[in-house]
Amino acid sequence: MRLRRITRAAVLGAGVMGAGIAAHLANVGLRVLLMDMVPKALTDEEQAQGLTFEDRAVRNRLAEAGKARLLQESPSPLYTPQALDLIETGNFEDDLHRLSEVDWIIEAIVEDLGAKRALLERVEPYWREGTVVSTNTSGISIARMVEGRSPAFRRHFLGTHFFNPPRYLPLLELIPHPETDPKIVEDMRRFAEVKLGKGVVVAKDTPNFIANRIGTYGLLVTYRTMEAMGLSVEAVDAITGEAMGRPKSATFRTLDVVGLDTFLHVANNVVANVSDPDEKAAFRAPDVFRTMVERGLVGQKRGAGFYKQVRENGEKKILALDLKTLEYRPRQAFSAPSLVAGQGKDLKTRLERLLFADDVAGRFAWEVTKKTLLYAAAKVGEIADSPADIDRAMKLGFGWSLGPFELWDLLGVRRVAERMKKEGETLPDWVEALLREPEPAFYRQEGTEVVVFGRGGYAPIVLPPEALSLKRLKAAGRTIGGNRSASLVDLGDGVLALEFHSKGNALGTDIVAVANEAFRLLDDHFDGLVVGNEGKNFSAGANLMLMLMEAEDENWDEIDRLVREFQAFTLRIKYARRPVVAAPFGMTLGGGYEVAAAADRIVAAAETYMGLVETAVGLIPAGGGTKEFLLRMVERVPEGVKLDLQPLVNHAFETIAMAKVSTSGEDARRLGYLRPTDAVVPNREHLLAEAKRAVLELVRTGYTPPAPRKIPVVGEPGYATMRLGIYQLQNRRAITDHDAVIADKLAFVLAGGRVPKGTLVDEQYFLYLEREAFLSLIGMPKTQARMAHMLKTGKPLRN
Ligand code: NAD
Repeated sequence: MRLRRITRAAVLGAGVMGAGIAAHLANVGLRVLLMDMVPKALTDEEQAQGLTFEDRAVRNRLAEAGKARLLQESPSPLYTPQALDLIETGNFEDDLHRLSEVDWIIEAIVEDLGAKRALLERVEPYWREGTVVSTNTSGISIARMVEGRSPAFRRHFLGTHFFNPPRYLPLLELIPHPETDPKIVEDMRRFAEVKLGKGVVVAKDTPNFIANRIGTYGLLVTYRTMEAMGLSVEAVDAITGEAMGRPKSATFRTLDVVGLDTFLHVANNVVANVSDPDEKAAFRAPDVFRTMVERGLVGQKRGAGFYKQVRENGEKKILALDLKTLEYRPRQAFSAPSLVAGQGKDLKTRLERLLFADDVAGRFAWEVTKKTLLYAAAKVGEIADSPADIDRAMKLGFGWSLGPFELWDLLGVRRVAERMKKEGETLPDWVEALLREPEPAFYRQEGTEVVVFGRGGYAPIVLPPEALSLKRLKAAGRTIGGNRSASLVDLGDGVLALEFHSKGNALGTDIVAVANEAFRLLDDHFDGLVVGNEGKNFSAGANLMLMLMEAEDENWDEIDRLVREFQAFTLRIKYARRPVVAAPFGMTLGGGYEVAAAADRIVAAAETYMGLVETAVGLIPAGGGTKEFLLRMVERVPEGVKLDLQPLVNHAFETIAMAKVSTSGEDARRLGYLRPTDAVVPNREHLLAEAKRAVLELVRTGYTPPAPRKIPVVGEPGYATMRLGIYQLQNRRAITDHDAVIADKLAFVLAGGRVPKGTLVDEQYFLYLEREAFLSLIGMPKTQARMAHMLKTGKPLRN
């Protein structure tokens, strides 16, 4: 069997999921044909325009509407608005023949077996051998969907279950049915991981597959336990969110986002398709959910669910639903000693203080956790081959910090099992087998391998060749230096990694110390360096708290020293004798960007929110960031070409003054934070390995460090131009007086100070200008107020 390389896809159904999937495929450069039904009636507007059913605008209306919605949604389903140009629209009456042009057909119409079967029947005549066909069903049987289709078609068919929203939720469940060609599953797995950036889990063709099966069970157990213990909606959300390593939206806010009608649909699918009466009972939704749906209280899409936002005297207020009376009332705060005891602690401590506490929250959390762990354990073998697949699906699809078996390990397999048994529960045989091990744990590290215990004993978890895990390498003893804020890890093949792991990955003296050690090692023992980590974000910048404290104590010399130290750090990255590649992802702000910008190459994740945001706290980038951004603007002008630099400098000015942050890796390129030679990698799990590969590539092609270059500047006339802009904005009251002060300092630096236009200045001079501006701004009370506000609220203050 030969599959075509996938460059063109058709998405059938332009609803929530179809449009979202089309957007994501376009994000990674595929051409997409997005189709939906021909509408049954003309709208008033169409009639007024004199359109008829013959017009394409009418016939493609549903697909067009799905496409148009993509520009409205927030957060954006598109990496850049340009991705939209790759999506073409069509309809099921006129365009099915065009399916012969595509390499992948994805069905995403209404969740109804009959409708899906009928559409696939109409698709088959235009389908070509070598084209994958898949369905985005949430839980309908994959095998039944293609009954009646030809054997060849059936071999090319599988489930590709995206989670909502497809760009942001990393999980993709691949569900082969018994006749799916195994080669197709393997090819699609690689394609989805490498090209679409998804975390793939292969699931069995059972009702609701993995994540929705366990997730739905967990939600229903949560509800039943809540009812039995007489808890409120708010109390349950206070317990089942961050305290338990779950998303902040916890139980009921999550349901409001999903839609209670959709949830009932998904739960009913299990009731209808499993035979065990106990399991049927477990998935039967409570009457109150049904009543809520009847009354339209389905959640966010209808404005009211378990919570409802109202406006009272012009102020937004959130009310909660009393499930006994179905009336909304003001939210009631809930607290418990076990929750307070864990607040601000690491996950293990949080879980232990909660789950083993004898207060209401503790008993509730234990009951829900116990039932969920037991259910997940019972389903190993039936819905997934390996417990690791269940863990991964829950993390990537539901945003849990830990999957059920990881959580069980963290609490102690024996300890949890003994308590379960004491409470009269029976454990599956395979878990009993694990308990007979001398030190039972579902996961075990063996060298750089990790093995997981399943029905067949321990088996290795094989990482794809693209993945590289610092966590694994460190557990295997490959750490060669570091302190509590950063580590040096040997990535093998002569490549060293500098990993940040300070609180929030804030950059400070600790990290610089480890970096300096890295440069010493680089000179004699390594061929190159990767700067990367596996935290939540690459780095949201320098340690603002420390800077503010020094400023409040008027320790100007100390601040000067810190800025110099940071500038020396970024310069060492830039002029290291060996190649340095930075691997940013997530928030890469301020000093975080300055570190990345100093590297020879950036290999960024597709989801990178990059920006020089210093002005938001009343400062300007002074770790070389202003200089590097300007360099990125002017370096593309070949020597000898007399180009007016002013528009380029204006762009740098605007970007930094407005603290613009990219909405994706591609967007960072568009804004000018990335160079054309920098790469954007769809899959975050592949980032470090790709960065390592980039280092090796630079080594292989004979790396020489960059020669210091002089930077042409716009000088005094350019400064005057930018000042005029600032003055106009200030006059129109579009910016505050303090905004103007900061912008003025920035303009001065970007212009290269009081020098004639066209002067060539060196980097040290630039760094001096940055430092001087920074020191004068941080002494100002309004800047300090901005810093304090950001630290307190996480939001900028426009004073
Ligand atoms: P939706 O209602 O937003 O869109 C469904 C689309 O199907 C509509 O554009 C509609 O015009 C079209 N359609 C309706 N009846 C049809 C028929 N008889 N023949 C052909 N087309 C028809 O639904 P959605 O949420 O996008 O769900 C689509 C699929 O994705 C479903 O299988 C659903 O279970 C699955 N899914 C949904 C989510 C989610 O969170 N919404 C998540 C994962 C998977």
